[in-house]
Amino acid sequence: MGKLRSIFWIPLLAVFFAAPAWGSGTEHVVPILLYHRFGPVARDAMTVRTTVFAAQLEYLRSHGYRVVPLKEVVAYIRGIGPPPPPHSVVITADDGHQSVYTDLFPLVRRYHIPVTLFIYPSAISRASYALTWDELRTMHDSGLVDIQSHTYWHPNFRTEKKRLAPQAYAKFVAMQLERSKATLDKELGIKVDMLAWPYGIYDEGLMRDAAGAGYVAAFTMVRAPAGPADDVMALPRYLVTDQDAGKAFGRLLKTNSR
Ligand SMILES: [Zn+2]
Repeated sequence: MGKLRSIFWIPLLAVFFAAPAWGSGTEHVVPILLYHRFGPVARDAMTVRTTVFAAQLEYLRSHGYRVVPLKEVVAYIRGIGPPPPPHSVVITADDGHQSVYTDLFPLVRRYHIPVTLFIYPSAISRASYALTWDELRTMHDSGLVDIQSHTYWHPNFRTEKKRLAPQAYAKFVAMQLERSKATLDKELGIKVDMLAWPYGIYDEGLMRDAAGAGYVAAFTMVRAPAGPADDVMALPRYLVTDQDAGKAFGRLLKTNSR
């Protein structure tokens, strides 16, 4: 009986040792920072002065933080990648404002850090405040800038759900999710698979629709670090403001434990 039992355990042990080393049970969480616009003055809540942003990057560098690609954190959260190194931080910027090219990109190159841009393609090369396709291509070619979807024209899904009949709303949602991805893929020769919810608005139905449209992760605006305990279709991000300088910025980063 004893012998039988030990034979029985051999395949179980094999399974245990074949499991990836990161399946140790420790949950790593990473702050994902969210920016929108940059400039000489903080004209609104969505603008961070370029000097403040530069100081934040210097803070990260001098305090031993490591800016890691969003994709790596998502792979970890999905259980298909190793945990990010300690003191990891992710940088993202939504909306494709012109200052992403003029102000963020030079600093991204200087510090050689990976960033992810969430873009709604309807504005690109059309709206005066927005980036052009050429600027997006230049940034993507640097190897430091990952480009992902922020729907096609940045709708308020809550308003649209009230305004439209159920069938029309379903069609509208599908268009926003699919056309954005298809346009970015075609214009930039990439494979978009992540989504930032416009205004941080999402619900169960939208999360299902996004997964069905080929997105593997989606992001909100909740001030918390992201980790495996979160729903991968509603991962939190910190909206960084112009006030998050010096010690306030340090406090924001120190919340990476649960
Ligand atoms: Zn947005």
